[in-house]
Amino acid sequence: MPKYLVYLRKSRSDSEHETVEEVLAKHYKMIQDYAAAKLGGAIPEELIYREVVSGETIQDRPEMKKILDRIQTEDITGVIVIEPQRLSRGDLSDCGTVIRAFRYTDTLIITPTKTYDLADKFDRKFFEMELTRGNDYLEYVKEIMMRGRIASVQAGNYIGSGSPYGYDKIKDGKTFTLAPNGEADVVRLMFQLWTTGAIGTTTIAYKLNELGIKPRKSERWSSASIRDMLKNPVYIGKIRWNWRKTIKKYDDGEIVSSRPKAKPEDWLIVDGKHEAIISEEVFSAAQERFGKLPKTKPKMKLNNAFAGIMHCACGRSMTYRPQSRSADRLICTNMKYCSNRSAIYQDVVDEVVKALKDFADDFKKLADDPPKISDIQKTTADALIKELHSLETQQERLYEFLEKGIYTAEVFTKRNATLSQRRSELQEAINAAQCNEAQEINYREKYLALIQAIHALEDDTVGVAEKNKLLKFVVKDIIYHRETDIRGKWNNVPFSLEIELL
Ligand SMILES: [Zn+2]
Repeated sequence: MPKYLVYLRKSRSDSEHETVEEVLAKHYKMIQDYAAAKLGGAIPEELIYREVVSGETIQDRPEMKKILDRIQTEDITGVIVIEPQRLSRGDLSDCGTVIRAFRYTDTLIITPTKTYDLADKFDRKFFEMELTRGNDYLEYVKEIMMRGRIASVQAGNYIGSGSPYGYDKIKDGKTFTLAPNGEADVVRLMFQLWTTGAIGTTTIAYKLNELGIKPRKSERWSSASIRDMLKNPVYIGKIRWNWRKTIKKYDDGEIVSSRPKAKPEDWLIVDGKHEAIISEEVFSAAQERFGKLPKTKPKMKLNNAFAGIMHCACGRSMTYRPQSRSADRLICTNMKYCSNRSAIYQDVVDEVVKALKDFADDFKKLADDPPKISDIQKTTADALIKELHSLETQQERLYEFLEKGIYTAEVFTKRNATLSQRRSELQEAINAAQCNEAQEINYREKYLALIQAIHALEDDTVGVAEKNKLLKFVVKDIIYHRETDIRGKWNNVPFSLEIELL
């Protein structure tokens, strides 16, 4: 039977606004949740140590001393702490004590994010780094705060900044929870319309607008906001956390911040302290109706196979512009001020295909008959390596000369610097020679990837997203040029492309 001890201690990195008891209770819950999920059950009370005195050194911490005694006299599988620094921080002699005690008794240090086995060299190194990590380390503090927030959600508190429609955010001791307000009737009406009427969210929005009921922040209800509300378990008394988080992504040449919905498996849904507005039966009927709806198509359909890889000579990305009366075009996003004119999309596709075919021909030749490192090159490389070895011997001898007093420190430093310089030059030359060899292997792969991309571009049955994906395997960037100063004559200027492969 594995046996685990738990060590709880408030440290300087915890909020000053929380008492020792509050911090310990919070960590206790997190550790017990972890133990229940990962270690086969909660840890019994007699194995839990709570440090209530605020000593930084082990000498000043009676509970820590008890833990160290116990792991040395009993067979303990591991000690669970919220993070390594709870055991010791910074003080070298304390670090040594902790590491020795755990290492030689084969006791694991378990944290919810990582388990350290100090018999393992790498774990030991990593653990040491954790202990000596600065207290002001920003990410670290953020993580602590995040843990606190998640723990607060787990306790059923409401930690959002505003409150959901239908509720007011109210203070409950030191934390916040929700209380139904006058809007709760509107929420009930919404669920009723959705679960009993045969109408969609767009119609529900329309009906509410017609009744003169206003949402909080805008003039009118939208189908999307109603859909979000109908799916929000807050209305059955639950707290949902991590539903949306802000992420930044690179999209078509621009950084876009968005708050996409997290995957349901990443949600944290717990029983809240607040009162439900909707019964579980009605809520699950509402979800059932969502489940039966046909999957909606993604709003933005990719229509540009060059999205993310084609840029105008001015630096902005090229975008796809459908035309109602003529062929669709590719156009610079900065077209108002850019001197590069647009082109017919299909013409650009044809041009890219032509260029990729040329590349493919070259790669095919290289793949069929890979360039060999010539004998001369090989001899050169061998000679370079030989010289490097001799340099290394010389450098070793320098130390001897220094030790024997043949060289003064000054002469040594000077000679040593010269040799080191020559050594790095040699190393670079050797690397360059060996590099040619490494590149030989990739020609066939590159050729095949190019052929795939070309076939996709030429095949109308292949989706644009697929074309885009295959292009991104082979193309790093395409720069589009169609510069002209002569207004009105631009049609005569052909466009040109600079293609850079990966
Ligand atoms: Zn431009």
